Parts: sequence; structure tokens; C-alpha cells
Amino acid sequence: MVTKSATTKTIMANEEEEPPSSNSTRREAKEEEPPSTGFASRRNRLFSHVSVSDWNDWKWHFRNRITSVTELARVIPLSSKEQSQLKLVTAKYPLAITPYYLSLINLSDPNDPIRKQAIPSIEEISMGSIGMEDPLEERRDSVVPGLVHRYPDRVLMVLTDICPMLCRHCTRKREWHNGGWVRSDEEIELMLDYIRHNHAVRDVIISGGDPLTLSTPRLESIIAKIRAIEHVEIIRIGTRFPVVLPQRIDTELCDMLSKYGPIWLNTHFNHYNEITTEAMQACDRLVRSGVPVNNQSVLLRGVNDSVDIQLKLCHSLLKSKVRPYYLFQCDEVQGTEHLRTPVETGIKIMAGLRGYTSGLAIPTFVIDLPNGGGKVPIGPDYIVAKTEDELILKNYEGHLFRFRNPGNLSSEAELVKAIPAASKVPVPVVRR
Ligand code: SF4
Repeated sequence: MVTKSATTKTIMANEEEEPPSSNSTRREAKEEEPPSTGFASRRNRLFSHVSVSDWNDWKWHFRNRITSVTELARVIPLSSKEQSQLKLVTAKYPLAITPYYLSLINLSDPNDPIRKQAIPSIEEISMGSIGMEDPLEERRDSVVPGLVHRYPDRVLMVLTDICPMLCRHCTRKREWHNGGWVRSDEEIELMLDYIRHNHAVRDVIISGGDPLTLSTPRLESIIAKIRAIEHVEIIRIGTRFPVVLPQRIDTELCDMLSKYGPIWLNTHFNHYNEITTEAMQACDRLVRSGVPVNNQSVLLRGVNDSVDIQLKLCHSLLKSKVRPYYLFQCDEVQGTEHLRTPVETGIKIMAGLRGYTSGLAIPTFVIDLPNGGGKVPIGPDYIVAKTEDELILKNYEGHLFRFRNPGNLSSEAELVKAIPAASKVPVPVVRR
């Protein structure tokens, strides 16, 4: 799906901006620190030379992303063996981390959950033959370059392959070598034409890469045209900016989005350490602009594969006004095997959430099937036995309960006749 066509412009986001000189990134901070949480002290340690105005400017972060092992080794301790290994990995799967996201890493913890998502691992290539390049076969359903039409009522517009951070578990890591590109005006017009002529399309998902790497005026020009199509009911934006660079969710962007609702935004928090003051403020700004925010996390080994972490993540999301939406089983993507968990882990997590917290805090655990089969919800089986007349159900504590199944009875007489039959089902049931 995220293929580079001949007419695609190859650019880096915000190329119109002058990159900051080395002096500007090294100067001492003169402004006062904004009020923040413990996060501020981590940022001071790693990036104390950065001014507050630069730190609050998403374009500064974007221009100053760490994209090589040599740069990374200047910021966090890496042995020469680690550096050599990481150079081998990044030759196949590049590296990009925003200073903001890097500042969230606890450098004294080699198993830090932020580190595992951002910093390459030798296992990406040592286990690299396991899995598939494009398990979801996204290219197959591309109707015009960049537009995927798999389900009847919705389409996916892929506007760019640029992301502020390259997540080590990304399903599209096969695309990382294509260079930074955004769709040209002509390509976008072709996508819009397809949508205009397909009246079944009521939901347009804007994705990438990360679509918020486009400037706000550029995004507005596209969103305004989508909104002008009468049969398009909702627009959805898929972005990880609130997590890896929340400074992007600024007033200009929120004011623009507020003009074209209903717009929904799906983001991708995987661990509660990502829910900083900055991230919470970004989500709050979106919600206040009329943009509901949902979260799609990926179940990752050593990052969020326990009930306790998921519970804390989901509660922190709700406190940030973000609804936990999906928990994805990590796809069968080459270069991610070391981060994948058995499906049973996800099922156990779901069993540990249901009943122990409110339904609002529980995402749907899904497997996105290979070969474009779509999403299938997976979870513990609460039906122990079933006849036409009755179900035996297990609750979250393991207790069994009878539940009469009304079936398709059309008259009161049939209903009365059915009740004694249900009571004859020979299944022992424990009632509390
Ligand atoms: S933000 Fe999404 S598309 Fe971009 S690298 Fe991360 S997981 Fe992949």
C-alpha cells in the first residue's frame, strides 16, 4: 500500500524550514521551564542545552530526530559491540527517534518499555527470516495509488510514508527504505475522485506513515475537499504524534480540525509511561476541539504484556479522555518476532480486565488476519455449554450461571412450553 510511485514527491516534512544550526541546539536554555511532571528532569538531563521554545516546537523536534547509531551513542550509553550490532540492524531497518520520545527512556533500565519501542535490537535481523514482509497484503486492495478500499463503506488514504518515529514493531517497516515521500496534488486528486464516484464510502481514514507530518495548511486543503463530498459522513485520522511528539497537537491544528467535524482521531499509546503531561494536554486539546480520541495499542513482549500494565495503561488513557479501542496482536511482520507474544497472553490479559474494571476501560483484543482477512476479535470463552434453549455461562470469577435463550419463539404459548425444557439441561451449575 505504501508504495512510492513515479509521480510522488520525495521530500522531508517541513523542508521549507531551515534546519537549526548546531549553535542553536547547543545553547543554554534561557527561558523558564514550564510546569511539568518528573518528565522535565529527564528532559533536562539529556537535552538541557535546548531552549524551552525549541523544546515546545514540534518542527524543532522533527528536524533534530536521532537517525543514526553514532548520534544515538552521543545521547545514551552504548558499548562498541552494541553500536556495531545496531549499525547492522539500521542498514536494513532505519532508526528515527524524536528528542521528546527519547527523553522518556529510563537510561538505567535496559528493559525500559519506551526503549524497546524506539531503539533497534539485533533480534530484528537475527530472527528476521520469521514472518512476512506484508502480512496484511495492503498493496492488493489499492484502487488508486495510496487509496485502499477493502471494506464497502470505508477507504484508507495513505498521504505519506514519513513518521516522526520509526516504531520497532511497525507493520510497515518494509517501506522504511523508500525514502520520505508525500503524495502529490495529482495523486490526491485521483484519490478524491475515486471517493466522489463511490457513494458507498461514508468513512475516510487518513493515514500514513503519519499524516500529521504534513503541514496544517496542506492537511486542511485535503480535509476540506473530503468534507465537501456529501456522502462522506466521518473522517478518521490515524496518528502517533500525541505519543511521540505531542507538541504537534497545537492550537493551529486543533482550530483547523474543529472546522471539519465529525473527525475522529486514533492514536497509539502502548505503555502508561508514554502518558506524560504533554501527551495528556495534547489529547485534551483535541477533545476540546470536538475530536474524540481513541487508542489502538499493540501487545508487545516486555512492553505491555501483563494485566497490571494494561490496566494502568487503560486507566491512564481514560483519565486523559482517550477511549481504549483496540489491543492488537502484533502482526506476523519480519523484524518484529522478538516483540511478539503468544495469543494466549492477550486472552489472559482480557480475562484479567473483564469484571475487574469498567467496560469503558477494556479494549477489544483483535488479530488482523494475514492475506487481508480483516480483524477478528479474540478473548476468553465465557460460554461453557449451549443448547437451543439455554446457555451455561462462566462469569469473570469462574462461577457458572444458567441463562434461558429466548430463541425465535413467536407466541406466548411456545415460550411457556420452552421453559421446562430448558430446566432439563443436565449441566451442573454453581450459583453463588
Ligand atoms: S507511527 Fe505507525 S506507521 Fe509510523 S512507524 Fe510507528 S507504527 Fe509504523
